[in-house]
Amino acid sequence: MTRKLALITLLSLLLTRTATAAPGVVDLALQDVGTGSVAEMKRSIFSLPFTVYDAKDYRPAIASLPQSIREGRISEGQLLRRVESIIRPVIELHHHTDKIELFLYRDEFARAMVWLGCVLVISDALADRLHDDELAGIVAHEMGHAYFMIETIKARKHGDHQAMKIVELECDAVAMLTLKLLGHDPADHFRGLRGVTNIDRTNGSNRIDSRDYPSIGERAQFAQRFIKLLA
Ligand SMILES: [Zn+2]
Repeated sequence: MTRKLALITLLSLLLTRTATAAPGVVDLALQDVGTGSVAEMKRSIFSLPFTVYDAKDYRPAIASLPQSIREGRISEGQLLRRVESIIRPVIELHHHTDKIELFLYRDEFARAMVWLGCVLVISDALADRLHDDELAGIVAHEMGHAYFMIETIKARKHGDHQAMKIVELECDAVAMLTLKLLGHDPADHFRGLRGVTNIDRTNGSNRIDSRDYPSIGERAQFAQRFIKLLA
């Protein structure tokens, strides 16, 4: 009887904790981006301001890349042509045509970033291992960061790890929305994220501050719930 009572007390305590728990990063990110129809989400996200660059900005931006990246540039070949054709529709959808330069380079780690707002840096390990739509999703995520620059700068300034995680999830939302608008399966973005994690795990990479990134479980949960909203 006493054991039964203790069990009931424990259960009710657990339930109360769950009911009153503060919303986590997944809920907060969904509150920010996950309202309205696909068209409304497109309008609200794509109308966020971002800095526009042009061809004259590429050269100094590339010159300021770390030497190890700069020296490994891949400037011809089948992989480059494949990546160019995958990223073109993503760049066009986000109105970045002629505002961003692709920089493919050799690296055993899976890397993608937009450097100084105008150079899309992608490693061959990433491009090689991901399927076309998965890579398109990762590129859209990186381009998504341009829409959330103000939040990122503010979060960095205050060392706000939760806000940094929310930005990451918001960029995942941009990626899934992009895939949906291009007629691909939005779930491919999460498959791409899992691919990146696996490549880096195999190679023993630990170059990121994990406090600023949602766990793969949080990203899966966010993707699942966001895709339902896109359906
Ligand atoms: Zn990111």
